[in-house]
Amino acid sequence: MAGLYVHIPFCAKRCLYCDFFSTTQLGQRERYVEAVVREIRMRRNETDEPIRTIYLGGGTPSQLPAVSIARILDAAGRDGKEEITMELNPADATPEYLSELKRTGIQRLSIGVQSFQDELLLLIGRRHNAAQAIRAIRMAQEAGFENISIDLIYALPTQTMAQWMADIDRAIEMKIQHISSYGLMYEEGTALTLMRDRGQITPTDEETENEMYDSLCERLRQAGFVHYEVSNFALPGLEAKHNSSYWDGTPYIGVGAGAHSYTGNTRSWNPDDLEAYLRGIENGSLEREKEVLSEKDLYNERVMLGLRTNKGIPESYLDVHNGREVVTGLTRKQQWLRRTEDGRLVATQKGIHVLNRIIEDLMI
Ligand code: SF4
Repeated sequence: MAGLYVHIPFCAKRCLYCDFFSTTQLGQRERYVEAVVREIRMRRNETDEPIRTIYLGGGTPSQLPAVSIARILDAAGRDGKEEITMELNPADATPEYLSELKRTGIQRLSIGVQSFQDELLLLIGRRHNAAQAIRAIRMAQEAGFENISIDLIYALPTQTMAQWMADIDRAIEMKIQHISSYGLMYEEGTALTLMRDRGQITPTDEETENEMYDSLCERLRQAGFVHYEVSNFALPGLEAKHNSSYWDGTPYIGVGAGAHSYTGNTRSWNPDDLEAYLRGIENGSLEREKEVLSEKDLYNERVMLGLRTNKGIPESYLDVHNGREVVTGLTRKQQWLRRTEDGRLVATQKGIHVLNRIIEDLMI
């Protein structure tokens, strides 16, 4: 199977921590939808395998009216799809909009909650407050969405452990099926990084961040969630199919400005410049940059992505690339990796804290 990712780069306002490709030029939305529909029609048969999952991500896909979402899905085709996900900003949720989205064929929502604490949402420049986040989840449930994911961020400046645990408990209490959770990253050039550099905010120390992560894993495990990827947790059987394809090497086509595609041994990407993308599609001259992956690149990628998941990587795979001694060290001495009965290596909880070091050791 293959996946289709559609990037919708529009945001009503920029969050202070964000370095994703997004734009506040909302006046270009209609033109952009036309371009995306055209690109999907041109490229939907690019992989040998049929497209089974669709993911509308951003930016903020919920800045598009439901009729535009329907046009995009018409172009992609809804038949035979196992999962169609769309990201939703809580500030855009209304009962009417959510019912319309349901009718377009969106099966799964990924809601950008980030926190249920007003002061923290304000601090990172989100458009919504906690009450709106709660309302958005309820509205989505009432509109009939039975597979809802939310994003939660930890290690936010001033965030206490009590606030963090309250956020996790709120998600459990609200009967969310899937949680993606990330520690705050200070990306170069973002407003939040500037605030840190000026001493206006203090980043969370590493020890507290690790404690927050471990508490998240533990609490969600107790609540019956499967920790299937470093940052992703799902009730059994509700692991994200589209996102899983990124980690297990399934091909995907990425359409829209800045979107990346992967076809097994080639990676390509559209320009992350709105005007260059629109003109390229409109003139039929879109140039995508391309990289052909060598055996070494593919091996490194499999190690890097596989070890992020609870399936890990086959140990035999490492044998081919002289990882034997390193693996022995990592499993016996450090206990950062464990062997499964079917001969795979999976990062332990202790190992996840130092995953980048493990990956570096195993890469060639
Ligand atoms: S809504 Fe999402 S994509 Fe847009 S600025 Fe905020 S974090 Fe970035």
